[in-house]
Amino acid sequence: MNHIAMKTPLVEMDGDEMTRVIWKMIKKDLLLPYVDLKTEYYDLGLVHRDETDDQVTLEAAEATKRLGVAVKCATITPNDARMKEYGLRRMYKSPNGTIRAVLDGTVFRAPILVRGIEPYVRNWKKPITMARHAYGDVYRDVEYRVPAAGKAELLFTGEDGTTSRQTVYQFEGPGVILGMHNRDDSIESFARSCFQYALSVKEDLWFSTKDTISKVYDGRFRDVFQHLYDTEYKEKMDAIGTTYFYTLIDDAVARVIRSEGGFVWALKNYDGDVMSDMMATAFGSLAMMTSTLVSPDGVYEYEAAHGTVQRHYYKYQKGEPTSTNSVATIFAWTGALRKRGELDALPELVHFADALERAVIHTIESGKMTGDLALISRLPHVERLDTETFILAVRSSLDAELSRG
Ligand code: NAP
Ligand code: MG
Repeated sequence: MNHIAMKTPLVEMDGDEMTRVIWKMIKKDLLLPYVDLKTEYYDLGLVHRDETDDQVTLEAAEATKRLGVAVKCATITPNDARMKEYGLRRMYKSPNGTIRAVLDGTVFRAPILVRGIEPYVRNWKKPITMARHAYGDVYRDVEYRVPAAGKAELLFTGEDGTTSRQTVYQFEGPGVILGMHNRDDSIESFARSCFQYALSVKEDLWFSTKDTISKVYDGRFRDVFQHLYDTEYKEKMDAIGTTYFYTLIDDAVARVIRSEGGFVWALKNYDGDVMSDMMATAFGSLAMMTSTLVSPDGVYEYEAAHGTVQRHYYKYQKGEPTSTNSVATIFAWTGALRKRGELDALPELVHFADALERAVIHTIESGKMTGDLALISRLPHVERLDTETFILAVRSSLDAELSRG
């Protein structure tokens, strides 16, 4: 069989523990036999991050800016226990945080739906992708415990010395206050990433805030989105038959539950924090959730939403059998290959990515799956496979897909 050609390399970021083991298997069994795989390889495994004083993470992020598409393996975010376990020289920051800061990007989380793993909400037929703004609001607030009666004021002093002063509250006894902020440039980057992503997956974009109550603050978010839609994205969305839809956050929650799915839902920082855990659970499994980082200028980084599956890795190291779900990591690769294929006009590469995703879904729907899914599947006959046997089952299904043309 001829290998499928690539033009521009993907940025490949290797990672840690069980997902690093899976990474190798996916390349060996599902990619290298079919694709003339071109990647620029960066080892973000914790050992190599420590050896390079975390420079490798910055280099990988810069490479992503240059080449446009990256695929990333899950990585350890160091804490005290990891400092000891790996004898680290210092407590490195989360690689995802570093990469997101360089790309100024927004994270989109989307569930992978298969028959047998039913969402808790019966009418959800298609995935709902969530985008959470990753800057400011209550995550960067200033808080104060008011000890006794007194006046709380909001004071802004401009660089030219002009001031604005408003009373927050006239306290007659103890209480609490907080000050929070956001920036126009951050809101605009967020909005652009959301429109870019929605265009790229050809879905409607929903956005919701509490602008009836927070007229200036949330109103600013609403206006930035609306302005970008009217001036830049409406024409592009019209052309592919999609649209932008704004509504109040409480109305949005009710509509999301009643919907069939199949759209992108943009949320402010706190709303996204709360809603993403609920949505991941409602769709069934964290191991079936993908995560895509999109920058406002349209750079894409694909990964699984879960971590390095540490507990399984310790079993693997002891030589015990594991049954770790590789689906979200496989979909990180297919997402990246499909995007590369679209950008480089390589329809065969796009076709391969589609076929591999169908093969994964077909494998699970035929009853072959890893332990985490076997526990929740409603299929009548379920076969629980170990980590690599599942990947090899996907490979047989992929061969069948590809021979069908
Ligand atoms: P985790 O790796 O997501 O795993 C938590 C638990 O969820 C696992 O122990 C396992 O449950 C289940 N699980 C997650 N993914 C699975 C999969 N693919 N197949 C089967 N089961 C799966 O989270 P964690 O244990 O809290 O974190 C481990 C490390 O990952 C940490 O060092 C953290 O810093 C890192 N992390 C990285 C990223 C990232 O790079 N994006 C994200 C999150 C966490 P059972 O043990 O019950 O089988
Ligand atoms: Mg949370």
